[in-house]
Amino acid sequence: MTAYDDQNIFAKILRGEIPSFKVYEDDDTLCFMDIMPRTDGHCLVIPKTPCRNVLDATDAQLASVMATVKKVANAAKAAFEADGITLQQFNETAGGQEVFHLHFHIHPRHTGVAMRAPGQMGDMDAIKRHAEAIAAALD
Ligand code: 5GP
Repeated sequence: MTAYDDQNIFAKILRGEIPSFKVYEDDDTLCFMDIMPRTDGHCLVIPKTPCRNVLDATDAQLASVMATVKKVANAAKAAFEADGITLQQFNETAGGQEVFHLHFHIHPRHTGVAMRAPGQMGDMDAIKRHAEAIAAALD
């Protein structure tokens, strides 16, 4: 497997080298908004320690990330009065991964509403409001 590259965009977010809209963090994980949201409330959960994806993550990294995914998913469902939540997670280029630091996508979903196409930059004011709404709904 290719080695972890600490110049990936999420590593830079973790180091504070580029900005992000933070939703939640604890000792082991960070949740922030995706800047090309495919749903309102689309956010990402990452471990604070390096790994490319599920294939090289330790059990401890996966456990801490999944605990945060569950916590934020419930908050996002409440904040957006969503009917459900879609989780996405991609591994290596052939698996659809573009940023090589483990992450889970959280999407609040409403019945009958499709996800938007990928790769479209979102409205930063709306993304900021959405981050605040999810954060406010956390336990
Ligand atoms: P994946 O690797 O799972 O295919 O997707 C990476 C995700 O990172 C995409 O949903 C993309 O919109 C998001 N992304 C790419 N660059 C940035 C960035 O600079 N900041 C944030 N917050 N998200 C990003």
